[in-house]
Amino acid sequence: MIPSLTGLLPQEITDKLSLDINFRGKQIFKWIANGAETFDDMTNLSKELRSHLNKTSKVYSTRIKQTLVDPDGTIKLQIELFDNRCIETVLLTDADGRKTACVSCQAGCAMGCAFCQTGMIGFGRNLEAGEIVEQFFHLEKKAGKLDNIVFMGMGEPMLNLAAIKKTIDILCSKEGRNLSKRRITLSTSGIISGIYDLADNGPFLRLAVSLTVANEDLRKQLMPVTNTNKLQDLKNAIKYYTEKTGIRCTLEAVLIHDINTNDKAAKEFINFAKGIDVHFNLISWNRVPTLPFREPTKQEINYLMGKLEKAGISVTLRTKRGRTIGGACGQLGRSYAASDNT
Ligand code: SAH
Ligand code: SF4
Repeated sequence: MIPSLTGLLPQEITDKLSLDINFRGKQIFKWIANGAETFDDMTNLSKELRSHLNKTSKVYSTRIKQTLVDPDGTIKLQIELFDNRCIETVLLTDADGRKTACVSCQAGCAMGCAFCQTGMIGFGRNLEAGEIVEQFFHLEKKAGKLDNIVFMGMGEPMLNLAAIKKTIDILCSKEGRNLSKRRITLSTSGIISGIYDLADNGPFLRLAVSLTVANEDLRKQLMPVTNTNKLQDLKNAIKYYTEKTGIRCTLEAVLIHDINTNDKAAKEFINFAKGIDVHFNLISWNRVPTLPFREPTKQEINYLMGKLEKAGISVTLRTKRGRTIGGACGQLGRSYAASDNT
């Protein structure tokens, strides 16, 4: 169990700290949502209680190890966990000034996608809810109030769904940060059971599925998750999600030079999208040193976009952000690898 309070709801704080007045748990919860990192900040608690809590408990279990800022405004934090592992979290600001936290849910990732830096590291462990919540609050302290949160950092969120749900309960609590559920996006490599779980049990989040290629054999090579989560079943799950929640899913595709930008790939994408209400978000592959892939050319990107648009599919291209600090999609984890080597 992580020795901190950020992963707890008000009643759990009351219980964990053995507080004699129930209301104290709510007060502490509220303080944490407002950015308090120590009990000393919580000025409506008595001095005696604060000093007792300082001796017996901790608010946070993580600390910022390094802050990196890209010229485009993207901020990447390297965060050290209580067991000395490192994870990364990113703040993205769009053209309208809206701020989005891109948080990690695992140290490393077990999925082994061939094009991803995080996949290269392998799996460390699942993060606890508090460790995810703290990423959000660390970023809010750097950048002011955030508008959105996306589970698109290190790791596969569907394989740590209990902690994700708890994180959402905490951040969306009216007694605390009161974030709207409509401002939360979860990105999965295509874990079908997780999609059904969210559709049946909630919370109803914006769902992004990292399709990348719609050819079963090629996808098995690039994304081994396909071995146990077949494309047709994935498509059925996406359909079910939209029917159940009324939410249109996003299909993400990392475009890689000479791999998934040709006519055949376009046809397979179009075929996959037939009969489901989806939006395509294309991501230019971000370079990961040591991997044998190349970034797509402008012509390749435009060709594919044109083909999808012509087929009546809604499609956008994600702007490149945070690349000089290794903070773009698929680049997270170098510091984790580094801290492992020391
Ligand atoms: N594990 C989840 C969420 C984290 S990865 C998932 O795979 O969906 C977030 C996104 O980054 C995914 O869409 C993934 O396909 C993409 N990605 C991985 N490596 C990349 C790279 N090198 N360049 C661009 N995008 C990449
Ligand atoms: Fe894991 Fe997502 Fe990277 Fe695949 S793309 S290895 S699922 S983090």
